[in-house]
Amino acid sequence: MRVGIGTDVHPLSAEAPCWVAGLFWEGEAGCAGHSDGDVAAHALCDALLSAAGLGDVGAVFGTGRPEWAGASGVRLLGEVRRLVHDDGWTLGNAAVQVIGNRPKIGTRRREAESVLSDAVGGPVSVSGTTSDGLGLTGRGEGLAAVATALLLPR
Ligand code: MG
Repeated sequence: MRVGIGTDVHPLSAEAPCWVAGLFWEGEAGCAGHSDGDVAAHALCDALLSAAGLGDVGAVFGTGRPEWAGASGVRLLGEVRRLVHDDGWTLGNAAVQVIGNRPKIGTRRREAESVLSDAVGGPVSVSGTTSDGLGLTGRGEGLAAVATALLLPR
């Protein structure tokens, strides 16, 4: 068995569409960036790659693979799933926690778990927390996520 960890942070912008944990959040400030800025999906990608020892999102989807520029977090997860599978691993389970004031992850937790679990082909649990008003997430300047994954030999 192998465990992995991933984190991600993006700035929030009132103009950006809000995609978090594979879901569109109507009326919420979103994460600016080249992709959909889905911090939960990106942290999950990094956790899976970390567990398999395959590097990180920047290395896998970086400038060397321009076809992935702007891809949604869920699409990136599908590709990471393929890479991890081809390397001989299957997902035991993964967990991702979103850190920020909004959106309120708990209100759509089951829905997010369903979308992310489908994307990676194994059980993903989703949770949310705040930083109690402190730091960039507490001031509403950005959104963060941390994820872990447990891989089993296929
Ligand atoms: Mg990211």
